[in-house]
Amino acid sequence: GILTNAGSEPEERVLEAALRPKNLDDFVGQARVRQQLSLVLEASKIRERTADHVLLSGPPGLGKTTLSMIIAAEMNAPLRISSGPAIQHAGDLAAILSSLTEGEVLFLDEIHRMSRPAEEMLYMAMEDFRVDIIVGKGAGATAIPLELPPFTLVGATTRAGLLPGPLRDRFGFTGHLEFYSTEELELVLRRSAMMLSLKVNSAAFSEIASRSRGTPRIANRLLRRVRDWALVNRLENIDARAASAALDMYEVDARGLDRLDRSVLHALCTKFGGGPVGLSTLAIAVGEETETVETVAEPYLVREGLLGRTPRGRIATAAAWDHLGLRMPAEAVF
Ligand code: ADP
Repeated sequence: GILTNAGSEPEERVLEAALRPKNLDDFVGQARVRQQLSLVLEASKIRERTADHVLLSGPPGLGKTTLSMIIAAEMNAPLRISSGPAIQHAGDLAAILSSLTEGEVLFLDEIHRMSRPAEEMLYMAMEDFRVDIIVGKGAGATAIPLELPPFTLVGATTRAGLLPGPLRDRFGFTGHLEFYSTEELELVLRRSAMMLSLKVNSAAFSEIASRSRGTPRIANRLLRRVRDWALVNRLENIDARAASAALDMYEVDARGLDRLDRSVLHALCTKFGGGPVGLSTLAIAVGEETETVETVAEPYLVREGLLGRTPRGRIATAAAWDHLGLRMPAEAVF
């Protein structure tokens, strides 16, 4: 997710890349998606055909980019990476598509943010492996058809519901990634700690995992922050106390909520009396885009039982008031 990479250091990105699992067996959790995907890939290998187009949906940091790399590796195919926001004109997409080689995997992150004309070009490319290149303008414009080699599109989106139906329908397989359990995040962390040669005990792993917001990217990031803390404090073995002391410094609370999560809840409780309030009004109150609140903060808050969606808007649950240390007004009881 490009949304969430903002502000990370180059060194961080190098480390993030190094920690990516390289094959399906090393990919922790998501058992169902993994199984289904492995079937799709196996079948296309037997049929000696390019794999069907794959749509991956789910909140940022759950492994969509990683899975696209794994798909390419499993298919022994090169991988091209681009994203919806980078494709503003149909011509941008035409340039990418016309340079694909046979069997290549094209990963389009945030595919729901592509421009309309590019999207329409993509329909034809996905279905018929063909695009019409428009040459000239106005009445003199002509469409020159261009054959494309068969390729596999892997689209990623933070919410499949944001995609227009015709685009969604052109994917042969859709996998929805769920938040990871604490146990699964511990596995991710163990693997990362080994690769970074860190000595971390079980209690510390579980402390970091439970604060990672169900998200492997966050787990790895917190592990690096704990590593920094241990380094500065000349601590060789990381235990739970060290982990929690380190994490307290980084504004992740005991439930894994980050600053955006907390400000959404806080606004909901203090500015709107706990709701119900419309999503866009709530987004304005925290100074964020509606889409960010909806796809980044909200899914985790809902999963944690802190925020509820009702037909009349978003509401804070009793657990949310409790978590913020605020008193729930009597009339807000639903
Ligand atoms: P997304 O594309 O969904 O935003 P990424 O694929 O970039 O997420 O994953 C972010 C980081 O989290 C990667 O660097 C990778 O190391 C780690 N990661 C994600 N999913 C897993 C997983 N299932 N097992 C191990 N590590 C994972």
